[in-house]
Parts: sequence; C-alpha cells; structure tokens
Amino acid sequence: MTNSDAHSLPKIAREYNKILVDNINFKELMKAIRNEDGRKIVANYGLDPKLGKYHRTYCEICGKRVEGNLPVTKCDTCDSSILTIGVLDRIEMIKDKKKTKSPEFRPPYVYQIPLNFIPGIGSKTIDKMLENFGTEMNILHKLSFDDIEATFGTKIARNITQAKEGKFEISARWWRSLRKNLHRLVLY
Ligand SMILES: [Zn+2]
Repeated sequence: MTNSDAHSLPKIAREYNKILVDNINFKELMKAIRNEDGRKIVANYGLDPKLGKYHRTYCEICGKRVEGNLPVTKCDTCDSSILTIGVLDRIEMIKDKKKTKSPEFRPPYVYQIPLNFIPGIGSKTIDKMLENFGTEMNILHKLSFDDIEATFGTKIARNITQAKEGKFEISARWWRSLRKNLHRLVLY
C-alpha cells in the first residue's frame, strides 16, 4: 500500500487506499494489510510523482532544476554540488536492484491530477465546483463529462476528462524565486 503525508488542509486525503473488508474495524484492516481471508488493498490513489514538489534535484546556487542523467550530483550549469536532491535522483542513488519487482498481488496505483494542476481551472472555479459537487474526489472519479459540462462548460469538462484519462504530458518545473512549485500540463 502507498501513502503520503499532507502538508496543508486541502491536501488531506488526496492520497488514499481502497480497501476490501467485511467490517470497518482494526481487525479487518489488519487482515487487509496482511492480505488474509480475502481482505485486501484493492487500489492505491495518489499524485503522479512527477507533480511532487521534490521530484528532481534543485541547484541552490542557480535557483533552478538540474537537468542531466540520473542521478545528478552536480549542477549542469554552475558545477556546484550545493543541491537539494530530488526524490527520483535519490532513488537512483540508493537502489540496490536493477528492476522493480512487485508481488503479483500488488494493487494498482491510480494516478490522480489534482484540480489545481489542470489548465483553465483556477481557485475560484475550484471553490464553485466544490460547492456544486462536494469533494474533489467526487469530481475526479464519479462525475461524467456531461455533469461537468452542464455547469462549467465544455472547455473545463474536456480538460478534466483529458487529465483523468492521462492525455496530458506532465512536466515539473521548480521556480524557487516564486517560492512555489509551478507545473505544466501539456496536451499531446
Ligand atoms: Zn547551479
């Protein structure tokens, strides 16, 4: 099973697990985690790692993301090694196997693109959507194209559908000067 911590209130429950149990109690939960008596983790849901804030290494001198073959240990621009090591680079540094080997019962990991990463959807639209449809997960997983289109128009409905179907190419860009992470979703 996969999980993550939440750094702010709106991000709570953005990473979660779908679990098959007979009852909602700790005993059943333990069985599901141990994959016993038919109880199991059915699926894990979470952010595409590429959208994570610390996915790639960042040069503290240049104030930019370091490009190059994994794992990068020096800045490709200024040659500095004063770096914040990204998750992907760190995995490459410490891995002790060439290939990932998962057990056969490993449940699928469903990538989710949060609404605020989807082009054309600003914070005011998100607030209105939550007013209309309750939760972000409801919008991302349960509403149809027509449901969204009826209230928010074709463009927004199309962008959400394309994000859900994995039709956006994701690239992470880190602009430390802005003190926040900017991400770009490009339709391909
Ligand atoms: Zn540099």
